[in-house]
Amino acid sequence: MDLKSFEALIKTENSARLFLAKLCWKNSHRFCTRCRSYKVYRIAGKKFRCKRCAYTFHEFTGR
Ligand SMILES: [Zn+2]
Repeated sequence: MDLKSFEALIKTENSARLFLAKLCWKNSHRFCTRCRSYKVYRIAGKKFRCKRCAYTFHEFTGR
């Protein structure tokens, strides 16, 4: 793979990820993928934890 196609791949993956994030999390309303509670809080990195059932998930869990 040459540098140009590698750059193209990174670019595509980034925009695809952004697109997905927008699609999945409208208005940045994160909710628990297990119990659907909106009472979640952010922990290390891009992970979230549910206050209700203590389930830990990341942006794309269950998608
Ligand atoms: Zn939950």
